[in-house]
Amino acid sequence: MHEVKEGWFEGFGGRYAPETLIKALDELWTNFNRLIQEENFLQEYNEYLKDYAGRPTPLYYARNLSNKIGGARIFLKREDLLHGGAHKINNALGQALLAKHMKKTRIIAETGAGQHGVATAMVAAVLGLKAEIYMGMDDMERQKPNVLRMKLLNAKVHPVDSGSRTLKDAINEAIRDWMANFETTHYLIGSVVGPHPYPTIVKYFQSIIGRETKDQCYKKIGKLPDYIIACVGGGSNAIGIFNDFLETDVKLVGVQAAGKGIETGFHAAPLISGSIGVLHGMKTYVLQDDFGQIKDTYSIAAGLDYPAVGPEHAFLKDKKRVEYVSVKDDEAIEAFELLSKTEGIIPALEPSHALAYAIKLAERLDKEKIIIVNLSGRGDKDIHSYMKFKGETYES
Ligand SMILES: *Cc1c(COP(=O)(O)O)cnc(C)c1O
Repeated sequence: MHEVKEGWFEGFGGRYAPETLIKALDELWTNFNRLIQEENFLQEYNEYLKDYAGRPTPLYYARNLSNKIGGARIFLKREDLLHGGAHKINNALGQALLAKHMKKTRIIAETGAGQHGVATAMVAAVLGLKAEIYMGMDDMERQKPNVLRMKLLNAKVHPVDSGSRTLKDAINEAIRDWMANFETTHYLIGSVVGPHPYPTIVKYFQSIIGRETKDQCYKKIGKLPDYIIACVGGGSNAIGIFNDFLETDVKLVGVQAAGKGIETGFHAAPLISGSIGVLHGMKTYVLQDDFGQIKDTYSIAAGLDYPAVGPEHAFLKDKKRVEYVSVKDDEAIEAFELLSKTEGIIPALEPSHALAYAIKLAERLDKEKIIIVNLSGRGDKDIHSYMKFKGETYES
């Protein structure tokens, strides 16, 4: 159905990268295709997923929440229970193992909120690789606990002082580093974004979420769900749970961050109000001005605060296979509070967007209908953002 031509999702994706990187991207693609055929590589990956990361994650029936709503039944795919508190470990482990089998000794990554930096630092530590993380200086200031975590995990954090001193500047620095050092270094991209083969590789490692979910649906519910709903930043947790259902008639919904409202301009929803452009090596929907300059984005959920989106989502939107919607900060906060109160589960603010949409949808459906929400992460990291939103101060 997709990737008809290698590296392309019908006109989206591609490889808009400097010439010096093409060799590194080819090397990565060749080794990836070789290693995923090798039994011992897959066995090692699966062992780490199981004993280190904590897979399989449960599919949990949120009975209290569903009863309170009084409509469709809501199930949660508990990626929040993984080591590190989010789905990011699935991909970080996979790529770090690739790097190791490719005889690389060093891993670099960029991070915005710090979550991907922490996941990268964890897997580098356990696999005996050196990790160096690029992070904008403004982000370092805002995300101090994650900077401390990365350092404790033995990663070197490089402050990036250029541009807006946030994620996109950190990405530029990481690319510069990779161009100079790809003989020894793997660039560990954190979502289904970037030039080919990254969107395909990251999907491969995240699609375990959907495979498990499908299996659990048959065992627990005896049928496939009616809806699967996931939040979309770069789009990796969403592709991860959608992938095994693309050929079924399950309705798939991707939820982007509407921030303070799409009309205010303070949002991070390129699939809702972006246009086709090129950023970070891929053709996709991008938030840009009339001159192609990238716009500033905003969301209360740091993991959704990105001006582009994985190219496969652009394709799935145009194909109308996935419906993309957006949810505002205040709606996500309401869902964050409701799940905490009814189920004793504090969700990350990112999947709170998916949950908010699921709750609204469930109200309109009858009890026979099943909705699965990909609970991509836990919300411990978000307590400060929550308190700030509520206008209360919180001393840790
Ligand atoms: C990083 C993150 C996201 C957004 O990334 P995707 O690639 O869109 O999945 C979503 N949820 C959590 C908990 C995250 O940490």
